[in-house]
Formats: sequence, structure tokens, C-alpha cells
Amino acid sequence: MRFTTIASGSSGNCTYVGSDNTHILIDAGISKKRIEEGLKTLDLGLSDIDAIFVTHEHSDHIAALHTILKKFDIPIYATNGTIQGIRSSDKKCEMTDSRFIEVSVDKEVAVGDMILNPMKISHDALEPCGYRVFCNGRKIGVATDLGCYTDYTVDCLKDCDALLLEANHDVRMLQTGPYPYQLKRRILGDTGHLSNDKSGELLCKLLHDNMKGIFLGHLSKENNLPELAYETVRVEIEMGDNPYSASDFPLMVASRSEVSPLLEF
Ligand SMILES: [Zn+2]
Ligand SMILES: [Zn+2]
Repeated sequence: MRFTTIASGSSGNCTYVGSDNTHILIDAGISKKRIEEGLKTLDLGLSDIDAIFVTHEHSDHIAALHTILKKFDIPIYATNGTIQGIRSSDKKCEMTDSRFIEVSVDKEVAVGDMILNPMKISHDALEPCGYRVFCNGRKIGVATDLGCYTDYTVDCLKDCDALLLEANHDVRMLQTGPYPYQLKRRILGDTGHLSNDKSGELLCKLLHDNMKGIFLGHLSKENNLPELAYETVRVEIEMGDNPYSASDFPLMVASRSEVSPLLEF
């Protein structure tokens, strides 16, 4: 499997998961041009993409969908709620039902030689989800935009070979930062976003000997710094009740604007 982020952050998200035969994007929340530039670094173009799976209807996950669908006949996979959310923001009603394939949480769907299984996440969208991707006995987990995690989340993401995990904000930066009170409450709430501390705490429950790489992603531009996200999660791993050190795994902060290093396994 091949796995990287083309962009990750509160201002736009697009993740690539591929095998030799199948190429999938999870979310298309940056411009079509930037997605094409990112894919080019992987020797791919949008015409190679077999499917786009969407996590939820917020604009940082769907910004390019409309433009892509005008030119490419790529099927869009999403939950029913997310499809309704996308279509209600489609003023010209150009994204018809026929462009979408509905998925349900905990129901596997096959695309080429990959199997995707949506997982429930706690976020203030209509029917948001994360994704587990399986291919050739390998497993990748993509979980961003979650206000909290539960035993179910841990269960869904255990035994992953690689992960994209949200580390959205530093709680102190958010609390003392410029955001209005209501927005701070939204982000900190159970249906908001995962803090660096919580991300580290969750990751500690997911580490195992065969973990091949972790991307920390969906960082807030205003309330986080890549170094701070990395350091907070590193300390959680070092201090946590597990046998691991952060240097045991490639632990990377996914870039907001550039393609992250490609994980291949
Ligand atoms: Zn969101
Ligand atoms: Zn988001």
C-alpha cells in the first residue's frame, strides 16, 4: 500500500491511499489544481483516481468536488447524511444523486483491490465518518475531525499499519487565542476537534510493534504549531503506559500545503 496526505489542516484536506492497481482519495478539500499538483508528485493524475471517499460535508473536505465532477467521472462515496450535506451546498444542483455511492458506517465496500470500511466519528456534521482501508492484509486508518474518541474508536483503529490521526489544537493556544468564545467551545466540545494531548493519548492505545508510520494531521492554523503537535504527542508516548518511544515509529506532522512523505509497505 501507498499512503500520504496531499494536504492536511483546518484549511483543506486531501489524502491519498493506493495500491498498484487502485488509487483512492479521501476528501477533496483543496483546489483541483493543488490536488493535481500533489498527485503529479506521485506520478498520478485525477484520471487515475478510482474513487473519492468523503468524510463529511465541511468545505475543508469537499472544496474541489464540484470542479472535479465537471471534468472527471469519478464516483464519490459518502454516507447518506454527507451526500445530503454536499448537495444542499450545491446551489446549481449539478451534483446529482447519480454521482454518489452511499456508504454506511461499519459496512465494508470494495473498490478495485481495496476494501474500505467507514467508522463513526463524533463531529458536528450531518453524518461524518473516518475510514479504515484494507489491502493485501494491510490496514490504514484515517481519523480526523473528531471531538472525542471512545472504545469504539480504539477498536476501529487498532492493528493499523499506518494512521492519519487528528492533532488539531493545543488547548492552551486555543483558550488564550483570538477565536470567539462560541467557536472555542465548539472546537473543544465532544463534536469538535481532537487536541494534541488527546491525539497522543489515543495514539498510545493504538501503537504496536508493526506500526509503520503515523501522520498527525488536520492541524489548526491559528491554534497549533507543527512542532508543538509533534512534541506533545511525543511526550504522551514517552510518558504513556506503553513500551514504546516516539522514535520507534516514523511520526510525522502532515503538511498543510505540501505532499507529505510517501509511506509504502
Ligand atoms: Zn469538519
Ligand atoms: Zn475538517
